[in-house]
Amino acid sequence: MNVVEVLSNISGIDRKQVKSIFEEVLANNKLINGCPGPHIFTIAAGRRKIADDSICEVCGGRISSSDKSWYEKGLAHGRGEMKGKIMAILAEFGEDPETALACIGELVSDAREQIF
Ligand SMILES: [Zn+2]
Repeated sequence: MNVVEVLSNISGIDRKQVKSIFEEVLANNKLINGCPGPHIFTIAAGRRKIADDSICEVCGGRISSSDKSWYEKGLAHGRGEMKGKIMAILAEFGEDPETALACIGELVSDAREQIF
């Protein structure tokens, strides 16, 4: 007995439909896991079979609004943590971290203008 048969028996949904949903989930997971990131989720225009309230503008993967919320909280948390680490490194060099960060921003901007 394979997973489609098991899910069909448990849910009462016919095997063909379970197989279709299963394949859709696998294809969606492939999109989500293959995304170069970060995902940019926006509210999907219409609902489909799977929990898919939001779709990624980068990879086309779909997730629930609850997953979107947790993903975005994780991103904000990670970015805040990274900023804290950068500020700590800059402080070790004896510079005011905010001033040093502004100087780095200007250097990157100047370098970008010279390259492009
Ligand atoms: Zn994505």
